[in-house]
Parts: sequence; structure tokens; C-alpha cells
Amino acid sequence: MRPAINPFGPLKPLDEALAELLAQARPLPGTDRIATMDADGRVLAQDCISALQVPPQDNSSMDGYALRCADVAAARLAQPTELPVELPISQRIAAGSAGEPLQPGSAARIFTGAPVPAGADAVLIQEDCEALAGAGLGRVRIHAMPRPGQWIRSAGEDIRRASVVLAAGTRLSPAGLGLAASIGLHQLEVARRPRVALFSTGDELVMPGAVPPAQMRPGAIYNSNRFFLRAMLLRLGCTVSDLGIVPDRRDATMQALQDASAAHDLILSSGGVSVGEEDHIKPAVEALGRLDLWQIAMKPGKPFAYGQVGPAHFMGLPGNPVSSFLTFALLVRPFVLRLQGALAVAPKALPATAHFAWPRADKRREFLRVRHNPAGGLELFGNQSSGVLTSATWGDGVVDNPAGQTIAPGDSVAFIAFSELLS
Ligand code: AMP
Ligand code: MG
Repeated sequence: MRPAINPFGPLKPLDEALAELLAQARPLPGTDRIATMDADGRVLAQDCISALQVPPQDNSSMDGYALRCADVAAARLAQPTELPVELPISQRIAAGSAGEPLQPGSAARIFTGAPVPAGADAVLIQEDCEALAGAGLGRVRIHAMPRPGQWIRSAGEDIRRASVVLAAGTRLSPAGLGLAASIGLHQLEVARRPRVALFSTGDELVMPGAVPPAQMRPGAIYNSNRFFLRAMLLRLGCTVSDLGIVPDRRDATMQALQDASAAHDLILSSGGVSVGEEDHIKPAVEALGRLDLWQIAMKPGKPFAYGQVGPAHFMGLPGNPVSSFLTFALLVRPFVLRLQGALAVAPKALPATAHFAWPRADKRREFLRVRHNPAGGLELFGNQSSGVLTSATWGDGVVDNPAGQTIAPGDSVAFIAFSELLS
């Protein structure tokens, strides 16, 4: 059956495009063994399994006195109620020292992080006690009744022995590095960095620095995509070969692709991905490998290409800066993470309240640049054009607005923070 005629051409739903890309993104062979200290942002290639429990022993979470609750209760019964209970101090345990089993009927002076001595079942904070000078270490006067377990961090409450603390496929965060360190791992096995070749197409493009603004010829614009694409790739753990600007010619485009294909896992380009006469990506990639040119049902960012040149994946992004930025964030980012074996690659969308109106529905799923206002709602950037990159610095994220959907102030919308898309 022929599909119904669609004025936008045969559009491919974004989720379908993403699923097809992820199906191609087999994890790269090879891993790196690197210092835990240097592993932020990398993807674990192996489970981190703990050979110990954390904390290793019961320890005090406060400065105070470790004691046995029953000793306090017994002392209480053994004397007139108007007198405060006192216990002799039998030892002093600082963090880093082990202490001795608690002598019955005594208290141990203890400090935060120090192991609770065997026989003690509670810590009384020093604010509820009074230290009294006397023979030996003196005595402690107790002004509150302890409850069993209080101010004790139990052994293994954070991590149990033999448990998987961080699973293979986890992308490491600063907290993840700390957690790996807390079980003694000074090195980690991580996926190797994807090698990405990046180039821009477009004869109108000029590199900042090459020509001062006052001398730009008519029709020329500065190459902005190269800057954010490279930065986003680096954040994702890739090594980037920056091939610069490739002229709008088939031979030059083919040469760039061929040069890059052998030593890279992914070739990423921006611009020239439509089917105009000046768009050379399609014929060039097809001459060397294979290419699917997609019209994705997303706005901004309709044209997108995926293919293969030799052993390398190829992805072609639209030239318009916001389209390039968002197609990278929503399609290339998950792909590059999956090449590293990352399991979680989808950005998290959270409900938020629109403090704006979007009265005209679009046939495509839209990603509207918005930011939170002090009243707890979302405001819309005034110009949602795909060329206006200011929207992406003004905003703190996008509203993921389904096709055919209008928005009225007060509506609940799906918000994706830029931190979800750019980290
Ligand atoms: P294209 O996809 O090549 O048709 O380009 C679409 C629009 O994006 C045109 O207005 C181009 O000038 C612009 N454009 C393409 N590449 C870049 C780039 N690297 N930086 C800034 N603008 C670009
Ligand atoms: Mg172009």
C-alpha cells in the first residue's frame, strides 16, 4: 500500500530512528585499564565487586561515649532517681584505632568514625554527657537515656561484601569514582574512547580567527557547529579528529570521508545533508559505502543521515545550528554512549508547568527551548527558529512536545534539562 501523501515527505518518528541507530551501535571492542582518579565520564566495562563491606566495622557517627544501654539502666536502678547516672571511662577510641572490648559497666570515649567496641550497643553524643575528672580516664555523667543502636553506623550498611557496587555499562560520575575508591579500586576497566572524525560542510563557512568580523564577505558566516559538536564529543569521552571545513564538492567530500574511514569509529559531519544540488554528503557516502537519508519527524532538525564508510559509522547532521545541536543531543549522544557499552542512554524527561502558550501545533515532535523562571514554571525563548543558537544558551532545557499538541499556560509538559543532553 502506498503511504498517504504527506506535505513534509515521509517522516520517520524520532524513537524509530533512535532504535535503528542503537541497533547499529555495537559496543566497540577493546577496553582501557585506567586510574580510577581519571575515569570520570568513562563507561565501566566490568562490574565493580566489593571485596569488603563498607563501613568495615560498626562505627560511631558522632563524638561521644560508647556504652551498653543495659549498664545505664542498671546504674539508674541502683541509685536514687534524682542523681544522674555516671560510668567510669575505660578507654579512648579515636578514628583509625581499633579499641578493646568494652569493660562491663563502663563507657568508652569515642570519636566520629572510630569503631564501636565489642559489647557497646549505643553512642551517647557528648552534648548529652559531662566529663568528670577522676582516677584513670575519669568518669562520664549521663544526662540522657541511650537507645540501642543510636549514633552507630552499622558494618556493611553502605556496601555488602561481594555485592556489585557499580555494574558494567555504568557511566562513571564523580560520586561513582568515590564509590569505586571506597572499595579499594585504584584502577578500572572502561570502554575505550570512540575515535570520531568531525567535519563541517559549507562554502559559506569561515573559521573564527581566520577573518575578522568587519571583513567577512557577503554570504559568509562563522562555523559555529564545529565548536559545540567537538565539545559535546569530548564530554562523551570521544577522541576527536577535527577535519575542519570540507568544500561543497563531491570529490572533496569523498576524499575527507575516505581519509577518515580507516582510523575512526564514527565520522560525523554537519550540513549538506539535504538533497539540494549543493548537498554532497549523500552521493559521496553512497559512492564509498551506504547511506540512509532520513527525514525525522522532529523540529528543529529534520534531515539526518546514517550510513557506513568502510569500517566506520557515518552520521550527517543538519547544518542549521539548533538542528545540529539537538539531533546530536537526541541521536548521536545515545549512539556514542552505546558504542561504549553504556546501558542508560535516554535523557530523563520530568514533568514541569508551562508558563507560556504554544497555540500552533506542529506535525512534528517539537523540542522547544525553555528555561525555569523563579515562579517554578517554564518560559519559552521568543524565537524558536532552527538557526537561532541563542535559544540554546538562554534556555536550560527543552520541552519535548508531541506532534499535534498545543500548550496552554498551566499545562504539564515534559522537560528535558540540558544537563541530561550535554553531559
Ligand atoms: P545545510 O544543511 O548545509 O543546507 O545548511 C543549513 C543552514 O545551516 C545554512 O544556513 C548554513 O549556512 C547553516 N550552517 C551549515 N553549517 C554550519 C556551521 N557549521 N555553522 C553554522 N551554520 C551552519
Ligand atoms: Mg550547506
